[in-house]
Amino acid sequence: MANVFTGKSLTVIDDLSIEERKYLFEKTRILKKAIQEDDKQTMDKFRINDKDFGIYEVFLESSTRTKESFRNAANFHQVKLSDLAVETSSFNKGESYADTFNTLAGYRNAIFIVRSKIEGVCRWLEEETQAFAKRNNLKRKPAFINAGDGKHEHPTQELLDEFTFLEENNWSFKNIHLALVGDLYHGRTVHSKADGLKIFESVTVDLIAPPELAMPDYYKIKMKENGFKLREFSSIEEYLNQDNIAKIWYFTRPQLERMGEQILKKQEELRRSITFKKEFIRKLPENTRFYHPLPRHRKHPTIPSFLDGTTLNGWESQSINGMYVRIVLLSMIAG
Ligand code: ASP
Repeated sequence: MANVFTGKSLTVIDDLSIEERKYLFEKTRILKKAIQEDDKQTMDKFRINDKDFGIYEVFLESSTRTKESFRNAANFHQVKLSDLAVETSSFNKGESYADTFNTLAGYRNAIFIVRSKIEGVCRWLEEETQAFAKRNNLKRKPAFINAGDGKHEHPTQELLDEFTFLEENNWSFKNIHLALVGDLYHGRTVHSKADGLKIFESVTVDLIAPPELAMPDYYKIKMKENGFKLREFSSIEEYLNQDNIAKIWYFTRPQLERMGEQILKKQEELRRSITFKKEFIRKLPENTRFYHPLPRHRKHPTIPSFLDGTTLNGWESQSINGMYVRIVLLSMIAG
């Protein structure tokens, strides 16, 4: 699929311009319809032609949806997919990121899909592996996709979130009023929204989190610079006690693995202020939809499972969209 993004890396959401994102959404809309209707001719137009191309998944943090949707996307493209078995690799003998990725880049042309705790690691690895390819006269330019880097960004989640909001709101880029609820401090998916939501002409974001889990100033400043209107609330209860309630709610789970000891001690109390309760339903505006990048904690979900069968449930279709968006992203990078 010839386009200007060929060969590029997606390390933060802004690596894709607004026009490129709109192009991706339009293509995703076509591809999703083609897959649902089993329209093989249209599906073939999306497939990566260069079968020497491979996908390398390197996940240094846990994942279900991102990893498996990319794996299914690779199956769709019928390209080789390798998954570095991190636990049994030399990474576990203390090998550096650079040595590990240079080794993989030496074997074949690949798009690397990387999840790691280290913020910004994909941009740095792109430079490292390109210098390695040059030293070794390899005619390749490895591309990287950030599948989540610490509490920094999760650009492919952002793409599927934006696609879902558009799909469920008549493809209007005009305005969006969104409530972000949960662990806004440690959650990377909400940080990608600071640039992600720029696709909309007018943006209002309500931030709902206790002070310990509040959105970092860096992202709040970025949102304001991007012209977003911001409001802050410390609990769902407080938010529902005012008039201007959003119809699009985006929840994130408390990111226990990223919390310091002091915050961990208070996790139960913090969780209470960001967990949706049955009695709140009647306060919601008509046609409200809830989204969540998932996972939900099986014992303490902030969106409890009694909501699964209600019209609030937008998180299931959101999750399904992940594969479609990632198929198209891979075709755009492979060219
Ligand atoms: N799956 C998302 C992520 O990797 C959300 C989460 O883990 O809470 O960031």
